[in-house]
Amino acid sequence: MALFASRFAGGSTVRGLAARCFSCTSGTFSSASEPARQQFEEILGKNLEDIEAAGTWKTERVITSRQANSVHVSGVSKPVLNFCANNYLGLSSHQDVIGAAQRALDTHGAGLSSVRFICGTQDIHMDLERKIAEFHSREAAILYASCFDANAGLFEVMLTPEDAVLSDELNHASIIDGIRLCKAQKQRYNHMDMEDLENKLAAVKSSSRMRLIVTDGVFSMDGDVAPLVKIMELAKKYEALVFIDECHATGFLGKTGRGTEEYLGIRSEVDIINSTLGKALGGAAGGYTCGPASLCTLLRQKSRPYLFSNSLPPPVVASASKVFDLLMHDSSLSERVSSNTELFRRRMTEAGFKIMGDNHPICPVWLGDARLASEFSDEMLKRGIYVIGFSFPVVPKGKARIRVQLSAVHSTEDVNRCVDAFIEIGKEKNVI
Ligand SMILES: *Cc1c(COP(=O)(O)O)cnc(C)c1O
Repeated sequence: MALFASRFAGGSTVRGLAARCFSCTSGTFSSASEPARQQFEEILGKNLEDIEAAGTWKTERVITSRQANSVHVSGVSKPVLNFCANNYLGLSSHQDVIGAAQRALDTHGAGLSSVRFICGTQDIHMDLERKIAEFHSREAAILYASCFDANAGLFEVMLTPEDAVLSDELNHASIIDGIRLCKAQKQRYNHMDMEDLENKLAAVKSSSRMRLIVTDGVFSMDGDVAPLVKIMELAKKYEALVFIDECHATGFLGKTGRGTEEYLGIRSEVDIINSTLGKALGGAAGGYTCGPASLCTLLRQKSRPYLFSNSLPPPVVASASKVFDLLMHDSSLSERVSSNTELFRRRMTEAGFKIMGDNHPICPVWLGDARLASEFSDEMLKRGIYVIGFSFPVVPKGKARIRVQLSAVHSTEDVNRCVDAFIEIGKEKNVI
């Protein structure tokens, strides 16, 4: 413990926090085996040093206000403009959404203390599942505590060794974990490489009962949109089902926020959609699977994160439900986030920055070097702009970037201030 505390003491980040936590328990805690404990500390310390040495240490800044266009960050005197939340529609602090959660606390309580099938299903859970299915024009939906859980719980239930799953190599970590848990034949295709996908579909066509193509609708690190038109063509040709993870699309991508299908102008033909309530849709927590009613019914019977984890808390359910009410009839927020995106991408490109991805509010500003990305974001914070550098292992080595995320709550002036700061620091650091 002392080793850990002294090595990292004084840091203003998680390291500092960790050191403080350790020192506050050191008076009362003792391990049954001191040698085991000592060895454990050394192994942990080595791991942490390696991360530090690689320049990939991730710090957690502490926010002391609501999630909004501007936030208070602990240790920073003035409020800073926030450009790194998944709060695409600004609904995390929307007054109607908060109000709905507050009312649900009174009517339905703080929590259920139960999984859904014992005594954790309330009327509001059923209502929300109906609204989700209606929003996506699908037969049914089933709620989970997170989309991570929805992804972890789907494939094992759906697929057996007789089946094949074909997954984009850059799919979200939770999809990778979910697929690990299933026993299907596994094929990973190169990122958005439709020739590779076709070859792999052809290879498994005769040896598999069902084939499932699995892709993120939008890839969160690069802001690129899956080539769904081509994927649907291949699905038809090789008689495959299609699954998309719409965490970075639901609520705001496409004219009315229906997601990747709408953005690409294709009909609702994707078989299964997983998405989160923890990003654009109020930002609290929760995820879901949406698709055939029979699939949702089977998941209720067999999906492990659904069966063995607590029911979503009523305030969270009510806030998400209010979000769907707002989005069902009004697309002004998704129009707003898309015009902010256009402004940011245009000005940054004109200034000489390379912005990755498609025309999505995720705007990764390419830098390459991990240390540069982290120093750049520190400089941005000094100028009152909160953005985060992403580096290995979140993105591949040598592909560090600052991921800027636009929101409907940003004003035009907010966006311009962010671009101006980028240009100033970019010149200082010879990036542009
Ligand atoms: C955020 C995210 C998840 C996890 O969602 P949670 O509800 O936060 O667990 C899953 N898939 C993708 C693509 C995501 O971006």
